[in-house]
Amino acid sequence: MNYDVIIVGGGMAGLTSAAYLSKAGYKVLVCEKVKKVGGLVNSFDYKGFTFDGGIRAIENSGIVFPMLRQLGLEIDFVRNIVSIGVENEVVIVDSKDSLEDYKTLLSNAFPENADDIEKIIKEIKRIMKYMDILYGIDNPLFLDLKQDKEYLYKTILPWLFKYLVTIKKITRLNEPVDEYLQNFTRNQALIDMIAQHFFKKTPTFFALSYFSLYLDYMYPKSGTGAVPEKMENFIVDHNGEIKKETEICSVDLEIKQVKDLNGNTYS
Ligand SMILES: Cc1cc2nc3c(=O)[nH]c(=O)nc-3n(C[C@H](O)[C@H](O)[C@H](O)COP(=O)(O)OP(=O)(O)OC[C@H]3O[C@@H](n4cnc5c(N)ncnc54)[C@H](O)[C@@H]3O)c2cc1C
Repeated sequence: MNYDVIIVGGGMAGLTSAAYLSKAGYKVLVCEKVKKVGGLVNSFDYKGFTFDGGIRAIENSGIVFPMLRQLGLEIDFVRNIVSIGVENEVVIVDSKDSLEDYKTLLSNAFPENADDIEKIIKEIKRIMKYMDILYGIDNPLFLDLKQDKEYLYKTILPWLFKYLVTIKKITRLNEPVDEYLQNFTRNQALIDMIAQHFFKKTPTFFALSYFSLYLDYMYPKSGTGAVPEKMENFIVDHNGEIKKETEICSVDLEIKQVKDLNGNTYS
């Protein structure tokens, strides 16, 4: 019951930590309270079909694919085309040009606000460019830069400069999107229609950059649960231990011990 590292929760965050720590030779334990790992990323089979229980596609973000490559995990992905439906109109978002279709959809619904919509679409395009920089390259944390000097000099260094300029602009776009859109239109119904796809108070940058994010969605052929499943196998293959149906109820940092609901302790 003694480990170098104990990870509470076998969602993608816990599995990622466990995969890298076990790869580095640490003795790792993952405690997961439910029957399977993956957390919000999970699939289940029912009557011969596979369903996703949580998220319905993987947003690469310049992170997931480099990470899978670095861990040597092979998963077949297909593009996950997103569609946006409002009343009986549907926009298929398969390229940046789809934003024009979205503009038409909004303009058909609110012809009296055509000028406002024009300004909003222009703003979305501006913000999408920031997202393209933020997530635009493979995240260097998941690459071996010592082995790939060309990537370091030709991609990362020029990107770093753009990133530093852009991140300042991004941090200024923290206002809730529904409030931010009031700068462009007084029509609350139009604002509601645009903001309905996001949680209330979603920061403007995150919400309005979604037209870039939609294009970055990929779907594992055998369901989103394929990702945690592969990671679980990787951890076990690297001598990590995963205890399922093990809910941790206390963490004592002083004596470096966690306790589960059945009274078992792990140090
Ligand atoms: C509504 C929504 C939509 C999203 N859509 C997407 C999307 O389309 N594409 C995408 O890539 N990302 C999406 N995300 C983001 C992504 O799902 C999360 O970032 C990611 O899954 C979070 O992983 P996690 O490990 O931090 O947390 P979780 O997935 O929540 O995992 C936490 C794990 O800890 C376990 N746990 C909790 N407490 C204990 C305890 N006391 N003891 C033991 N185990 C415990 C839980 O059972 C769970 O398995 C979405 C998120 C949300 C909320």
